[in-house]
Amino acid sequence: MTKKSITDPNELRAYERGFVPVLHKPVSMILVYPNSYSVAMSNLGYQSMFYQANLHPAVFCDRGWHHPGSPVKGILSGRHMRSFDIIAFSVSYELDYFHVAGCIRESGLGLYADSRPDTDPFLLLGGIAPTINPMPLSSCFDAIAAGDGEQLIAQFLDAYTGCRSRSGSDVIDAIETVEGVFCPSRHTAGRRIKRRIVNDLDAYPTQSVVLTPHCEFPDRFLIELERGCGRKCRFCAADYIYPRPRFRSAESILDHIDRTRAMTSKVGLVGVAVMHHPCIEEIFEQIIRWNMDCSVSSLRVESLTPRTAGLLKQAGQRTITLAPETGNDNLRKYINKQFTNEMLLAKIDLCVKVDITDIRLYFMIGIPGETDDDIRAICDLTAQCAAMGVNLRLTINPFIPKPHTPMQACAMDSRFELKRKIKMLRDRLNAMRNVTVSYPAVNQAYMEAALARADRHTGDAMLLSGSSMPNPKRIEAVALDVADMPWSVVDIS
Ligand code: SF4
Repeated sequence: MTKKSITDPNELRAYERGFVPVLHKPVSMILVYPNSYSVAMSNLGYQSMFYQANLHPAVFCDRGWHHPGSPVKGILSGRHMRSFDIIAFSVSYELDYFHVAGCIRESGLGLYADSRPDTDPFLLLGGIAPTINPMPLSSCFDAIAAGDGEQLIAQFLDAYTGCRSRSGSDVIDAIETVEGVFCPSRHTAGRRIKRRIVNDLDAYPTQSVVLTPHCEFPDRFLIELERGCGRKCRFCAADYIYPRPRFRSAESILDHIDRTRAMTSKVGLVGVAVMHHPCIEEIFEQIIRWNMDCSVSSLRVESLTPRTAGLLKQAGQRTITLAPETGNDNLRKYINKQFTNEMLLAKIDLCVKVDITDIRLYFMIGIPGETDDDIRAICDLTAQCAAMGVNLRLTINPFIPKPHTPMQACAMDSRFELKRKIKMLRDRLNAMRNVTVSYPAVNQAYMEAALARADRHTGDAMLLSGSSMPNPKRIEAVALDVADMPWSVVDIS
């Protein structure tokens, strides 16, 4: 049996090390990640919310995850999901909405909030996907949290535990005043919910509180160095939701890493602009002195310098991940990525010089205005990179118009067009040595796009109706009247 194939909660629990909350408190909550245990435990938002909820003096929070065909159970208590007072879902990807609906269905609870009696658990939804657009599952949840959850969860739990009766309408009376909380049953046209932002990251440890070998980063202590990017790539919803980078202090980062050294020698630095941390060199130097194995999540191309590449190598980084998105400099400029193919090749050369030869590249197809020459340019750029003696792993994603971005109203390429472009890529890339490619599933991408821009009605039809999933035929351009867009309920100003 491979490590990742274990699904029995008791067995998985036996491998866990780290934070164990007090189990017996007046209010019980379960935090559910709508994907596998391995994906859940690799998600810092999920780990952080689990920790923050348990800091509340009156609340015990358990952890659960989606396991097809069986009801969600808490890993710590063994209790079924529906026996908790509060069920909270943390969702990062739109396609996991199907699993959310599956978890609720399999628990025996009614899918529609207005069909559930007051005695049923209170259902809360949070995470980056519903922050971008809370409407697709709005019929299903009593409340939806928009934005950073650390402060919000404490205020939500204060309001919940302060309710004299825990009946649905009393709780909603209490929590709808919490900034960032959207209560679909009380929503009135034109009312907007301000998404929450945590400015002082040092106040909240966003890091692995439970280590396990059964996740995507086995036994690695992950810590968030920064949040937000500020680069403003025109397709990137995360950057428009969180418009400027916020950094955790070097003192706080190193202090938390130091405290975990007795448990693990592996650390992962998380964030979209990790190398832009003002003290990144100091952080690396200390991690190297501690002789820890360190990895970072993806890098922005411009952040690689001879010095940072050398530090990455010394710290144990084996793979560098970069996202050129396209092989055409002009098209890259159009999406607001400010580097050229020449610069990318120079950065890969830096990696080779420090003996990091595993390179992962992300490309996007179907960018509005893209031509067949642009597809050929991806192949040409890949061939140039491969000729530098590196092992390349390419991930190809289709362009998906995401809410709140300058490209939110754009159409997607038709399915036929995307499949044709994938075939063009396959015909050339598959013949290249030392290049492996992961191609997108076009149907799934279409589903993701439809859910990203869905209103309540479309969300109900796709997620809750129980009929076979309508598969959108086309993702068209939409008229750009921002105030009418379903996600305009979230105020990101
Ligand atoms: S660099 Fe990455 S995280 Fe930053 S805006 Fe661009 S795509 Fe988004």
